[in-house]
Amino acid sequence: CRHSAQAQVMTSFLSSDIKYLKGVGEKLGKQLNADLQIRTFRDLLYYFPSRFIDRSRFFSIAEFNAEMPYVQVQGSFMRLVVEGEGAKRRLAGLFSDGVNNMEVVWFSRITAISNSLRIGVPYVLFGKPTRFNGHWSMAHPEISSPESVKEQSPFYAVYPLSEKARKHNFTAKSLRRLVNNIFQLPRFSGIAETLPAFIREQMQLMPLAEALRTCHFPASPQVLEAARYRFKFEELYYIQLHLLRFSRQRRRDIHGQVFPKVGDCFNTFYRQILPFDLTDAQKRVIKEIRGDMLTGKQMNRLLQGDVGSGKTLVAFLTTLLAVDNGAQAAIMAPTEILATQHYNTLRSWCVRLGVNIGLLTGSTPKKERRFIDEALRDGSMQILVGTHALIEDTVKFKNLGVAIIDEQHRFGVAQRARMWSKNTTAPHMLVMTATPIPRTLAMTLYGDLDVSVIDQLPPGRKPITTRLYYQEKKEEVWRLVASRLRLGQQAYVVYPLIKENEKIDLRSVEEGYRTVQQIFGAKYRIAYVHGQMKPAEKDYQMQLFASGEAQVLVATTVIEVGVNVPNATVMVIDGAERFGLSQLHQLRGRVGRGADMSFCALVAKYKMSADTRRRLELMTQTTDGFEIAEADMKMRGPGDIEGTMQSGLPFNLRMASLAKDSDILTLARQKAAETLDRYPQLSDKTQPPQHSDKDLSTILAELDYRFGHSIDWSAIS
Ligand code: ADP
Ligand code: MG
Repeated sequence: CRHSAQAQVMTSFLSSDIKYLKGVGEKLGKQLNADLQIRTFRDLLYYFPSRFIDRSRFFSIAEFNAEMPYVQVQGSFMRLVVEGEGAKRRLAGLFSDGVNNMEVVWFSRITAISNSLRIGVPYVLFGKPTRFNGHWSMAHPEISSPESVKEQSPFYAVYPLSEKARKHNFTAKSLRRLVNNIFQLPRFSGIAETLPAFIREQMQLMPLAEALRTCHFPASPQVLEAARYRFKFEELYYIQLHLLRFSRQRRRDIHGQVFPKVGDCFNTFYRQILPFDLTDAQKRVIKEIRGDMLTGKQMNRLLQGDVGSGKTLVAFLTTLLAVDNGAQAAIMAPTEILATQHYNTLRSWCVRLGVNIGLLTGSTPKKERRFIDEALRDGSMQILVGTHALIEDTVKFKNLGVAIIDEQHRFGVAQRARMWSKNTTAPHMLVMTATPIPRTLAMTLYGDLDVSVIDQLPPGRKPITTRLYYQEKKEEVWRLVASRLRLGQQAYVVYPLIKENEKIDLRSVEEGYRTVQQIFGAKYRIAYVHGQMKPAEKDYQMQLFASGEAQVLVATTVIEVGVNVPNATVMVIDGAERFGLSQLHQLRGRVGRGADMSFCALVAKYKMSADTRRRLELMTQTTDGFEIAEADMKMRGPGDIEGTMQSGLPFNLRMASLAKDSDILTLARQKAAETLDRYPQLSDKTQPPQHSDKDLSTILAELDYRFGHSIDWSAIS
């Protein structure tokens, strides 16, 4: 058909190999490729500037000061001389702006530059002024003729360049020139739109060719904003389309087992064993989950709830729904400690219900493992708790009805996908996370999941009092710990252990352990856990603390996730300045789990950056996980957060920011949903893509370009 053929021609222009661009060639092409991942014309055009320099302003030499970054000055050379020999050779010029003079020097490309410059001819110089021996000097300025400066946009693009790229002589100027070479090609103005026309019209977005030009050579800050808006929207729109398209398909096509019965196990547990009432939030979430299990479609639900909100209980009730209907359930946790803890909690309940539960981790002995394998296959083991070990191919269920993943942000996308293949009818999936993430990030990371939120803590929790102490005041902290221990309560003392710094950190936690031993060892038992210990030793130490035999636990961040000891009421975080906000929040969530007042002592060096101080002060002011997550995102910038979530984000954001562009994201999601209503065939793999509609073929081509190489999203929750 005509449209797609035309689109094809246009696409092939943008997908031309960069080496065919004027000014590039084989060698530079390879370098662009290696240093900047630029392979095609399109790659270069979408290599957006990181900032702009305003060149509408000219300076006179009299106005210079040493703090100025780059300035632009007009004038002419009065003298140009090659001086020195060998390595000391340089080209020195005397440049006058009509009133004052400055020196201009070059240390490389001397012959070429001196041949290209004329005395007395007007030039515009652009560079950083430095004060040298009592006069102004400028090294290696950019040089243009006044006419060409007038023609160009006054805003000069500056591109993000790695050290390696700089070494290979890539500069903002050379990139600007190459980009401009594309714009000069006649075929550029005919490039095909990448957004469907109806969206572009509704949203009044700048056309592609104009937006690209503007992004590299803006005429004013206002049009630059409009061009950037287009690309931000486009980026988020396609991500949402990509996510929603498959979740719709999945909702339609993927069957799930129906669990109609609320049976004996569920009821007995709920009425006779459950030691407290569920919170309203827990009840609501259970209803949502139960609703999913009645639809005949596979459940794909994200359960978000702050630390201590009682997700484990919801998980257990969910497994009972499956068990009551004759299916099996699996719960996967990211660490051995956590899996074991879940197992111990649930086993005590299962024993009373007559439900058969097992634990499978990397350190499960062979014999035990064979027994579990068999019991899973014949269906006699109803619930399996474990670590990554339970997604191994050898683990086979008779009929896995529901799979629950705890602290899911610790797992990669692929690991989640493997749960799916454990059953002929895909198991219902419930993924749980305590790491509060801002809504925008959730919409992007989990855009295709239904979301339940436990927004309420169990009653009777006393707020945690958090205070910042400086290292010099450590005595006060130990007094606080002593006062809680005297009441029969327990304490955590946590030290950072950061990979890059492992040796030093290990020493500091060892030292910390010795100090705690000295102060409290005579009266109390001290447990001690760090990341390098053998799992069995770790478990033993954790168990000492969990059972109350040990009153103090000295630990590195291995306890960050999920450990539950309600009798622990003090947490000392030594070296708090080295933890991020989210991590501090997670750690602090280990206390405040019982009915007693809890305390968190952040111990830090007095000297710290303003950012760090704000972070720690925020911790003393709020315990609201979502407030902390939002603040964290704003302070660290989304780049950093996105960086830490790399395993979750299957795409790079080039223009949009999840922290700043939540309004655009909301719109993009809405437009993506409208697009799918208009073109149901987008979420239907069985239908051949239809090309008679120009907008549809634009969308399909773009989805293919952006996500064609990524994993099949329909198989991932
Ligand atoms: P998280 O959401 O962080 O995984 P947990 O499931 O570990 O939280 O629950 C934290 C503590 O709160 C546990 O000791 C649990 O028994 C208790 N808990 C859970 N739900 C309730 C409730 N409705 N009422 C009282 N305590 C509860
Ligand atoms: Mg938990």
